[in-house]
Amino acid sequence: MTTIIRAVVADITTLNLDCIVNAANTSLLGGGGVDGAIHRAAGPDLLHECRLLGGCKVGDAKITKGYRLPAKYIIHTVGPVWQGGQANEFELLASCYQRSFELAIAKDVKSIAFPSISTGIYGYPIEHASKVAVATIQSLLLDQPLIDEVVFCCFSHRDLEVYNDIL
Ligand code: ADP
Repeated sequence: MTTIIRAVVADITTLNLDCIVNAANTSLLGGGGVDGAIHRAAGPDLLHECRLLGGCKVGDAKITKGYRLPAKYIIHTVGPVWQGGQANEFELLASCYQRSFELAIAKDVKSIAFPSISTGIYGYPIEHASKVAVATIQSLLLDQPLIDEVVFCCFSHRDLEVYNDIL
């Protein structure tokens, strides 16, 4: 079966999919942006589970339950802070999508939503980051077409246009 890949504008916490991805920070103990929204919506039990994970490296990912979210799982990944493009940002961002994909496959996730990792507080230009996101996921799906639906969850109509231009 071919995977449906699409971009939408939504609050990612509302999406009724198997799994959503969080653009977290290395502490995994909550923060601003989408991370704050996910912790608020999932409730305090999420923080309790996150405390047991021992943080997360940039470019890596860890998985928790979804608690009060419609999603069954949350994958917490830590994107790179944009430093102009010469600090391995490309590889680290691609690694976020790859590690998240691998964890999702390991849990037999069939539908997953990604926020636009690193393009908020971390400053990665969305025109570049969206290409990394889409190309990485498309190439992983070629080898492992095991997910039915991948959603790129944008938080503005401008971001949606950028993703739709690529898709
Ligand atoms: P980072 O620190 O990785 O840049 P941010 O949370 O600041 O993470 O931003 C990542 C992206 O998530 C940005 O495009 C931001 O607009 C978007 N975002 C913020 N809140 C939400 C939300 N509730 N649902 C989906 N996307 C969101």
